[in-house]
Amino acid sequence: MTARWPWILMYHSVGPTDDDPFHVTVSPRRFRAQMDALRRAGRRGVSMRTLLATPPGPLRDRMVGLTFDDGYADFADVVVDVLDEYGFDATVYVVAGRLGRTNDWESAGAVKPLMTPARLREVAALGMEVAAHGVAHRPLAGLAPEDLEREVVESRLVLEDVLGARVTGFAYPYGSVDLPAHAAVREAGYEHGVAVRRAPRRDVWTIPRTFVGEADTPARLVAKCVRSLRDRTGHRRAPA
Ligand SMILES: [Zn+2]
Repeated sequence: MTARWPWILMYHSVGPTDDDPFHVTVSPRRFRAQMDALRRAGRRGVSMRTLLATPPGPLRDRMVGLTFDDGYADFADVVVDVLDEYGFDATVYVVAGRLGRTNDWESAGAVKPLMTPARLREVAALGMEVAAHGVAHRPLAGLAPEDLEREVVESRLVLEDVLGARVTGFAYPYGSVDLPAHAAVREAGYEHGVAVRRAPRRDVWTIPRTFVGEADTPARLVAKCVRSLRDRTGHRRAPA
């Protein structure tokens, strides 16, 4: 029997959507409706940690991975409350060199605050998985070896120091991954890596995700996920 690749959704920020040129923000109202649609479809939103710890089978087939990149403060302010209502959890990938600062790597759009170390500890205590997203939000493909090492290894050490716990997941900033970046994440001891769509290898260090935006009505979200699941049929190396 072929194990099916689970649905994994990629979010960034949940907040006001009026100044959002890169479409990284979903309004709280829309986000709640999306979570509601997942539950009505019989799905449970989970962190990557939970997803990867669940063996392929009927239980995992009902799970949807929920991931949030960058570590916006609205994850602690808005997202965790909604997830709690539905009994869901999620993984948040944070930029280790920007804790308590803003998304200053963006060239346009709203300036958004990022979680502080204290808030990271707070969301981790609520059962959310906190994982790494580099030190400075640099695209990893083509980076010099020493810079690559810094982004991948140092981000983990900083977060482990903040949390006092192991950090086992990594999200490639901008989904940018080449073979050296893939190798660096694997060799740094991460147990999983999430990309966006294309990756030089297909394994547990380059798990693809589906972008979710404000335009995704509940019906469209469910349709999109079904389509993405179908596209992955025949995926030979499921991250089991
Ligand atoms: Zn990012």
